[in-house]
Amino acid sequence: MSNVEHTFALIKAHAIGHAAEIILRATRAGLVLYRPSHNYRKFTLEDAEFLYAEHAGRPYMGDLIKSVTKDSVAVYVLSGVNAVTRWRRLLGATDPEKAVPGCIRGDFGTILPDNAAHGSDSVKSAIREIRRFVPEYKLPN
Ligand code: ADP
Ligand code: MG
Repeated sequence: MSNVEHTFALIKAHAIGHAAEIILRATRAGLVLYRPSHNYRKFTLEDAEFLYAEHAGRPYMGDLIKSVTKDSVAVYVLSGVNAVTRWRRLLGATDPEKAVPGCIRGDFGTILPDNAAHGSDSVKSAIREIRRFVPEYKLPN
């Protein structure tokens, strides 16, 4: 049985120059790309706090907020079979120092929190994130 999912992808500010190359890895892996017309955008403090709500109070929260608000980010929706885990597998480990070469964070990440890109961690998170950041995207009921 096919399990088509929709996930939220974001290229972080420090890696924006590589956005096309990074997102190409998703489409090459068979995920279908939805690119909003204004997909390069500046994240507000509220956007960052929404995306990383579960990290509130962590010692790195300030650096994390800066990392996604300092300059434009790029947002997309990726869909396909098991899209949530497929995109996260392409990203690799959270810490670029541990992410192996060949995965996105291994190739384009620098040092935490600058690990190149974000991917929703579950179908539930994906729905929450897509609804906020790509509201025009038609999610199936
Ligand atoms: P992921 O992005 O792989 O889902 P987490 O949800 O654990 O990882 O963390 C969210 C983001 O917070 C990470 O992508 C990274 O930018 C940042 N982060 C996580 N852990 C640290 C840390 N120890 N120091 C600095 N930044 C961190
Ligand atoms: Mg996470």
